[in-house]
Amino acid sequence: MTTIAENLATVRDRIARAAQAVGREPSDVKLVAVSKTKPASAIREAYAAGQRDFGENYAQELGAKAEELEDLEGVRFHYIGHLQSNKAKIIVKAAHVVHTVDSVALVKELGKRASKAGWGETRERMPVLVEVNVGGEPQKHGATAVELGGVLDAVDAERALRVRGLMTMPPHDLEAARRAFEALSSLRTLHGGPARLPELSMGMSDDLEVAIACGSTMVRVGSAIFGAR
Ligand SMILES: *Cc1c(COP(=O)(O)O)cnc(C)c1O
Repeated sequence: MTTIAENLATVRDRIARAAQAVGREPSDVKLVAVSKTKPASAIREAYAAGQRDFGENYAQELGAKAEELEDLEGVRFHYIGHLQSNKAKIIVKAAHVVHTVDSVALVKELGKRASKAGWGETRERMPVLVEVNVGGEPQKHGATAVELGGVLDAVDAERALRVRGLMTMPPHDLEAARRAFEALSSLRTLHGGPARLPELSMGMSDDLEVAIACGSTMVRVGSAIFGAR
């Protein structure tokens, strides 16, 4: 058994090598440690090893952990699970970034809740990424490529939200994943480029090297850090 600290070191090394292999700076790729289903003690262990950004998929679990870990200075929770409007209230309170906005209706609900929670007023506007179903796979969440422009415009219209980029969940197959990552990168170019959309959230435990080669700025890594779920 390796420790969380050892796993983190290995993943950081993978990120650095993948970035250098394509002439990018390792520091341009943020590691989001996906801690879903793992106890708060595992997050503390990763935090002690220098990790600050954590990804959570379930609103209730995120809310409970954020409360339990309030004492961890500088910790940032990324909400990466499917967004439902009845969970928006918990998410705007506990999360610092949302990766999974995928419809105009959800943007409006999240914007309303974020505003009530003080985003855009007593604090900066809440950073959000739009999840895109680049392959148009029917079983997947995410805006289609055709819907994307409308969802981005809806975010721009919310004074409590700030659009930061795009996110995708690729197919398992590595070559299909590469095509999905390239497609997400092209969609960014089409919708304003890095000036409007600085972040590309793509790449997980098994495909982070491919994602970084395709321009990822945020990899979401769970099992390679915290072990199998
Ligand atoms: C679980 C999850 C991850 C992490 O997956 P691993 O294969 O464990 O690295 C990344 N992104 C999302 C959206 C997830 O749900």
